[in-house]
Amino acid sequence: MEQDFAQVRRLMVEHQIRARGISNERVLAAMREVPRHLFVPGDLGSAAYGDHPLPIGEGQTISQPYIVAVMTDLLAPGPADRVLEIGAGSGYQAAVLGRIVREVWSVERIPAVAVQAEKNLDAAGATNVRVVVGDGTLGLPDHAPYDGIIVTAAAPSVPQPLFDQLADGGRLVAPIGSRNLQDLVCYVRRGADFARRIRGGVTFVPLIGAYGWEE
Ligand code: SAH
Repeated sequence: MEQDFAQVRRLMVEHQIRARGISNERVLAAMREVPRHLFVPGDLGSAAYGDHPLPIGEGQTISQPYIVAVMTDLLAPGPADRVLEIGAGSGYQAAVLGRIVREVWSVERIPAVAVQAEKNLDAAGATNVRVVVGDGTLGLPDHAPYDGIIVTAAAPSVPQPLFDQLADGGRLVAPIGSRNLQDLVCYVRRGADFARRIRGGVTFVPLIGAYGWEE
């Protein structure tokens, strides 16, 4: 069974990701390795590798594989990096990052979702990912600064605490826009300057918190 899934993952990476222009070998390798089926509810198993997001309970979703790849690529992660994720959800994005970087901190607002994310990460053998329950719009100041910050819920604007907790040279990726439609935005920090790039329309569940949307 595991072997079948490994083959399905290779096809997912070739057809959904590399074929659409993602060539970052770190990203492609990580997505070939992480057992995505362990991050979706049990009854959805083989649907895990389809070209779409899936429900994970509590009204939340695991992102489409291609979107995970695009965001990970924009984050330009390297082996020595420490990364902060806002919105652990299933834990899948954090597990992909965990294959590439030194350490991942992932904040999740809904306690039951965080518990499930931890279980999924354990089952997948991700040992360098930590899930923390809280309002990620405040960042995670105790472990700042971060070389990369990835927001996987839709924000009206980038929460100021996240800019503050980004290391010099660090990258921040987030879907920014309305509750229904956002652009993926990538910032690179150089001292007090934040250079911005924008990449295409996406739809994420809302980021809810002090610097996000109201519930
Ligand atoms: N990265 C996830 C998908 C995220 S879905 C994955 O790979 O599966 C978005 C998640 O963000 C949801 O679980 C939601 O509860 C969470 N969320 C929303 N607002 C948040 C906030 N202020 N802080 C932390 N998590 C938040």
